[in-house]
Amino acid sequence: MSLEGKTAVITGSNSGIGLGVATELAKAGANIVLNSYTDRDEDHKLADDLARKYGITARYIKADLSNGSEARGLIEAAGQCDILVNNAGIQHVAPIDEFPIEKWDAIIAIMLSSAFHTTAVALPMMRKAGWGRVVNIASAHGLTASPYKSAYVSAKHGVVGLTKTVALETAREQITANAICPGYVHTPLVEAQIPDTAKKYNMSEEEAVEKIILDRQPSKEFATVEQIGGTAVFLCSAAAEQITGTTISIDGGWTAL
Ligand code: NAD
Repeated sequence: MSLEGKTAVITGSNSGIGLGVATELAKAGANIVLNSYTDRDEDHKLADDLARKYGITARYIKADLSNGSEARGLIEAAGQCDILVNNAGIQHVAPIDEFPIEKWDAIIAIMLSSAFHTTAVALPMMRKAGWGRVVNIASAHGLTASPYKSAYVSAKHGVVGLTKTVALETAREQITANAICPGYVHTPLVEAQIPDTAKKYNMSEEEAVEKIILDRQPSKEFATVEQIGGTAVFLCSAAAEQITGTTISIDGGWTAL
C-alpha cells in the first residue's frame, strides 16, 4: 500500500516504538515528522536517514510534550498532519501513597493531555484534506491494571477513552481514530532492564525474561516495533476504513487472561 503524499507526525519518535512506527510509515511512502524534547544532531540525523533510505521527506521537530502549548506547536510547525501517532511516553513505578506528585503530573501531561492537544490541532488539518488517521499508542495497561503504576494505567485508560471520543466526533468523515495496545515490546528501554532483573532474581537472562519480565505475556515473546509499525500502516489502509474507536491488542495474549 502507498501512503505517498501523506504526512505522518509521530510524537516521541527518536527511539523505540515511535521510531519503529515512523520507519514502517516511511517504508509505506509517508512523509515523516519525528519529535522528542531534545534537539541534538543525532535527532535530526534520524530524519535525514529515513528520507535518504525511503525517498520521502522527513523532519525532526523539537517539542516538549509535557507542555500543552508545545504539543499544539508541534502540529502547527508540521503544517500538515494526515496521520497522527500519539506515542510519547514515560513511566514511574511507586505505590499511590508514595507516588511523587510531579511524576503523576508529568505522566498525565506527556501521555494523555498531549494527545488531546495534538489531536485538537490535527483534526482541522485532516478535515481540510478530507482524510485522516489518529493512531494512539496506548498499552495493555490501557485495558488492565498493575499495582504501582497508577499514573501510567490512568493515562493509558484515558488515551483509550480519548480515542473512542475522537472516533465518534469524526464518524461521518474519512477520519478514523484507534488505539494500539502493546504488551511488552522489545525496545532499548526493555533490553536494558534484562541484566539487572536477572541479577536481582539470581537467574539467567533467558529465565528473567520468561519468568519476570514476560510474566503476564502468555506467548513468552516480546512484540516488536516492526509489528506495532505494521499495525499502524494497516490502520491507514483501505481495509481499515471502517475500523474506528477501537483498540487492537498486540500483547501475546495478555488481555485474554
Ligand atoms: P522509549 O523511551 O524508547 O520512547 C519514548 C519516547 O517518548 C522517546 O522518544 C522519548 O524521547 C519521548 N518522550 C518522553 N518524554 C517526552 C516529552 N516530554 N516530550 C516529547 N517526547 C518525549 O519507550 P517506548 O517503549 O518506545 O515507548 C513508546 C510508547 O509505547 C509509550 O507511550 C509507552 O507507554 C508505549 N508502550 C511501550 C511498551 C513497551 O513494552 N516498550 C508497551 C506498551 C506501550
